Amino acid sequence: MSAWTDLLRDIPDFPQPGILFKDITPVLADAGAFAEAVAAMAAPWRGIRLDAVVGVEARGFILGAALARELDVGFVPVRKPGKLPGHTLSLDYGLEYGRDRLEIHADAMPAGARVIVIDDVLATGGTLKAAVQLVERQGALVVGTGVLVELGFLAARATWDHAAPLHAAAVY
Ligand code: AMP
Repeated sequence: MSAWTDLLRDIPDFPQPGILFKDITPVLADAGAFAEAVAAMAAPWRGIRLDAVVGVEARGFILGAALARELDVGFVPVRKPGKLPGHTLSLDYGLEYGRDRLEIHADAMPAGARVIVIDDVLATGGTLKAAVQLVERQGALVVGTGVLVELGFLAARATWDHAAPLHAAAVY
């Protein structure tokens, strides 16, 4: 079994020049490393009452769904625009360049459901922050957030103003 962090792969200049992309696909492809990575993401939440894991499209689905199974709770997707078939709530948010939008089913969870919001990589933090806002607008209670990898040099944590904890399984 490989240590999961050994299988994280840096791809320079993807998807554009100057970005060092953290590729998690080799971690996912290795049964032992995938299990270790999911266990590392699950560790802070064991023993805490949760109703669901919310995952952000697209890599947050892979990790979030595995984490939901690990923690024995349901999974709720936050998706890119136009993908969810039911009545949705949406939230526009600013990116480094331009804007984007996330959506959730309006009836995805009962009011007050206790959830964690999961993504693969925390870069500027804009995506995770937007997902948290959307989930709160939906009526659920965000008790925490988690990522597999935090890009510490981007200092998203310094501007993280949510009361719930933000856990990263690895920081680079
Ligand atoms: P941000 O909103 O800046 O925190 O960006 C986070 C989103 O973009 C996550 O959904 C990541 O999947 C993706 N992302 C941003 N930067 C990287 C990176 N260097 N390597 C891998 N994924 C990234």
